[in-house]
Amino acid sequence: MTDKLIEIKDLYVEYVTQKGAFGKNQIIHAVNGVSLDVYKGEILAVAGESGCGKSTLAKAILKLETSKAGTISFNGLDVFKMNKKQLKEYRNSAQMIFQNPYSSLNPKMKIFETLKEPLDINTSLSEIEKFEIIKDKADKTGIDLNSLKLYPHEFSGGQRQRIAIARALVLNPEFIVADEPVSALDVSIQAQILNLLKALKKDFNLTFMLITHDISVIKYLADRVAIMYLGEIVEIGSKSQIFVNPKHPYTKALLNAAPNIDGMKSERTLLKGDLPSPSNLPSGCKFHTRCPHCMDVCKKAAPNDIVINDGHKVKCFLYLNKAENCSVND
Ligand code: SF4
Repeated sequence: MTDKLIEIKDLYVEYVTQKGAFGKNQIIHAVNGVSLDVYKGEILAVAGESGCGKSTLAKAILKLETSKAGTISFNGLDVFKMNKKQLKEYRNSAQMIFQNPYSSLNPKMKIFETLKEPLDINTSLSEIEKFEIIKDKADKTGIDLNSLKLYPHEFSGGQRQRIAIARALVLNPEFIVADEPVSALDVSIQAQILNLLKALKKDFNLTFMLITHDISVIKYLADRVAIMYLGEIVEIGSKSQIFVNPKHPYTKALLNAAPNIDGMKSERTLLKGDLPSPSNLPSGCKFHTRCPHCMDVCKKAAPNDIVINDGHKVKCFLYLNKAENCSVND
């Protein structure tokens, strides 16, 4: 494995919301003790149902959400202890592509201004240097230079996502979070944007965290996959480890939602019920209320990471004391 770009240890993120007629406060436990490494040059997919905490995790990494506890380091520097200068550099180095290109662009700004704004705010480059950067990023993302004088509403969804990607690139980041980057686009456009992200990763030596619930997108883009459930990473491994030899019952259930994935085992684990509320987390293993393999111990104790083999870890009591390549009959 290559060098670590990001190292997350025991990260917690909570929200306090008001709910009900009496406005009683509720604590939403969005991220619950996540420890995770992101390696330089990889695409790490974080997958799970809507509400599992994957977008909150990504925003916490970028300091767009406040973390309650834990540490995040970027290139060896503790993100929570950075001074002003280091934090500014970090914000330039770590960018985000949002799900919806319609709402992520300012409708009142021409595309050239949209791409120039991060350079105006964060650099002291000359106007000519800024123009050269914008020209380069527009070219690399397939944006016609003549269209830089237009407004966002004059573009299709796919073109707007290209613009959002170009904007994320103008400050030459090392790390990009792509949060459901194609889910708001027509199916016919999705492949173009996925191909673009793949090409950009190579061209600019980027590292990606891909947030998605779409198994086919993971299959196409990811190098490694982390499966998230109620704010925890319940399984992590290389793409082939997760797709060919999934271990956690939840991972199996998620993969079953994509029946035509090549190389996937034909085992079937069907999910029961809905995702429990993150304001009222189940005791023990958080998946026990929906797990077809639930045992007494699962209701009382939370499983820790169990190493299946190189880089493949799972949080599930079924694999305690089992050797490499262990399997559980469904
Ligand atoms: Fe299911 Fe128990 Fe494993 Fe949790 S620890 S996934 S409840 S078998």
